[in-house]
Amino acid sequence: MEVLIVEDDRISQKLLSKTLSNLGYSVLETANGRQAWEKLKTGEIQLVITDWLMPEMDGLELTRAIRNADLINYVYIIILTSQEGVDNIIDGLDAGADDYLIKPFNPRELSARLKIGERVLDLEQKLKGAHEKMRDLAMHDELTGIWNRRAFYSHAAAELERNRRENLFLSIIMLDIDHFKSVNDRFGHLVGDQALKMVVDTLKNNLRQYDRVGRWGGEEFIVFLPSTTLDEAAKIAERLRVDIAAAELPLSDSDDAILQVQISLGVASIKGDQDVSLDSLVDRADEMMYQAKEEGRNQVRLYK
Ligand code: GH3
Ligand code: MG
Ligand code: MG
Ligand code: MG
Repeated sequence: MEVLIVEDDRISQKLLSKTLSNLGYSVLETANGRQAWEKLKTGEIQLVITDWLMPEMDGLELTRAIRNADLINYVYIIILTSQEGVDNIIDGLDAGADDYLIKPFNPRELSARLKIGERVLDLEQKLKGAHEKMRDLAMHDELTGIWNRRAFYSHAAAELERNRRENLFLSIIMLDIDHFKSVNDRFGHLVGDQALKMVVDTLKNNLRQYDRVGRWGGEEFIVFLPSTTLDEAAKIAERLRVDIAAAELPLSDSDDAILQVQISLGVASIKGDQDVSLDSLVDRADEMMYQAKEEGRNQVRLYK
């Protein structure tokens, strides 16, 4: 782990640096708060040992600067100073330091205190990891791994807004598996789940880099196609229809039994300068999807 030393006195700096190297830390040396702050701004350093009295920017000013900044990672700060006395200690901790040591330091004590710092930083890392995992879970559909409705919606809403400024076409495809209830009824829910995954795999295989797919609900999916006209979207929808109808899910209980499903699709497009909300756009695609159902399923309908 890297430790940043902030110390204006050359001898103290060398002594501290040597001790830390012996303890296995990699050491960065700076001579005052301002120099240290330049290095800290990058957000990579997380462990700091700082002197208090220094020219240009002292240890307390540095500590306050760190606490007031919006750095990516927490910075664990130990003040190491000859400023003794309980009032000074309180001032140092009040400024935002995590720990306060009086010179001359005892190497074993310093080591023990650095370990506290590492523990705190480790906890922070774990907390961040857990937070990211929760965020990820909240955004994705558990069965298929694609975005859920909420995640899709917020992405699409932001894209729609961006699109307004760039004034491009964009399209949405709403699709729903035909007679899916009977798949569950005949083959069971687990096979139904596999069929859903197969549909999603086929969707993903057909999409381009910036296209996005989400699970809108049960057996209903939604595709967002940025910079795509209605004509282009119609071609993509038709390709999805054909590819999904051709996909085969092997049924494990007999050798050559397979399951195939078909989908009905609705497509709607807008140009950036048109004042259409995301909800209305989705409604239009939905309306067309239902029309495709009514007119016999396994087909694409376009909103014109
Ligand atoms: P339509 O052609 O009109 O769309 O008929 P449908 O049977 O597909 O439509 P319906 O809305 O009647 O039934 C949808 C079915 O999808 C019922 C529901 O149990 C099933 N379903 C929804 N989510 C899941 C899921 O996660 N797994 C499985 N196996 N089935 C699901
Ligand atoms: Mg000093
Ligand atoms: Mg259906
Ligand atoms: Mg449905």
